[in-house]
Amino acid sequence: MSTALEDVFHRVLAARVFKDREKLRPDYVPEELPHREFEIKRLGETLAPAIKGVRPSNVFIYGLPGTGKTAVTKFVLKALARTAAKLAVKAPRSCYVNCKYDNTAYRVLASLCEQLGVKVPFTGLSISELFRRFVTGLEESRGLAIVVLDEVDALRGEHGCDLLYRLTRVNSELSSSKVSLIGITNDLKFTESLDPRVKSALGEEELVFKPYDSEELEDILRQRARLAFVDGVLEDGVIPLCATLAAREHGDARRALDLLRVAGEVAEREGACKVTEGHVRRAQREIERDRVVEVVRSMPLHGKITLAAIYLLEKKGVREKTTGEIYSLYRDLCRSLRLDELTQRRISDLINELDSAGLVTARVVSRGRRGLTKIVKLNIDGSILKAGLGEDGRLSDLLP
Ligand code: ADP
Ligand code: MG
Repeated sequence: MSTALEDVFHRVLAARVFKDREKLRPDYVPEELPHREFEIKRLGETLAPAIKGVRPSNVFIYGLPGTGKTAVTKFVLKALARTAAKLAVKAPRSCYVNCKYDNTAYRVLASLCEQLGVKVPFTGLSISELFRRFVTGLEESRGLAIVVLDEVDALRGEHGCDLLYRLTRVNSELSSSKVSLIGITNDLKFTESLDPRVKSALGEEELVFKPYDSEELEDILRQRARLAFVDGVLEDGVIPLCATLAAREHGDARRALDLLRVAGEVAEREGACKVTEGHVRRAQREIERDRVVEVVRSMPLHGKITLAAIYLLEKKGVREKTTGEIYSLYRDLCRSLRLDELTQRRISDLINELDSAGLVTARVVSRGRRGLTKIVKLNIDGSILKAGLGEDGRLSDLLP
């Protein structure tokens, strides 16, 4: 083994930064959820009738990513099961599906069946047959089931909408059991696209999660840091800095926890005995780099070429780039790559997509008599963008 590599291993072994790194992972649900007392109480009140075997109202939960929707829901369901056990009453069954991972009607139903103990094949059945088995499974369980559809906005398309509709109607097909639904979404506009009947059925109760501010994020981080880090390894400014940086990104607790975890990992790699604000800044860059590389990697080639044109203009010191300037450079790049260029209209659409992904900001301004034009600004560090684009061998030669 090379000595450089051995050094790395020794440094990590010697460093005593983490006591239990897993406590910073996104799927860990802590014993307490600071600053969500109100939401926990509201959801608890809504679901409480389940203890008596009465069907709770369906609930629709929405809020931006990282505002604690999944954590609060799992927390309340766990508490409900614990209380039922203590009172020796029949606990409601809860079935949890994340529709972003199980993103077709088939997979959602297959997962629900499996959680009810009904065996189904990975593929091959019709949706109606799956649904029938799900209903049979529910009837056999003779009781109340709480079905959580997390990130339900990922369930799109005809089959997805149809499944949501049928789930909101399933109680009419059941005689010895009942179902309550909890729908969760990050997409605040999702309800607008829903079938009005599904919307009103799912939204019998609604719960909105607000973003955390930086003080609230600090409390959340402190609670986790106590469990995850060796006492005293965090310098005083570390938690406030993670909280401030994440608060700027719409108060996302997941981002804040990631930042803290990666800062610890950077410190560990360096063999440092303290985690400093410098480590947080480096962690921020690392996370940003990973995110940009990921976004760029999944882009179509012409999207990448458009970004390359924006990058080259930025290098030349042009901060505010017009669509015309970008398009003309994009065309030059296509020629040197011997590719047919897309129309300016398509490139304008691609620029809007880059805007949605957060890589650029595009805004339409009036240029007096010359009409409207779009001004594009790069939102990320040029060197990070270059790293992302450079992964594509076709582009790496074009970027200085
Ligand atoms: P959402 O589902 O709204 O996107 P999550 O519930 O997954 O957000 O929360 C993201 C991360 O932040 C998870 O690791 C979660 O445990 C943590 N988290 C969110 N809110 C709190 C809180 N109030 N207290 C402690 N941890 C929290
Ligand atoms: Mg979630």
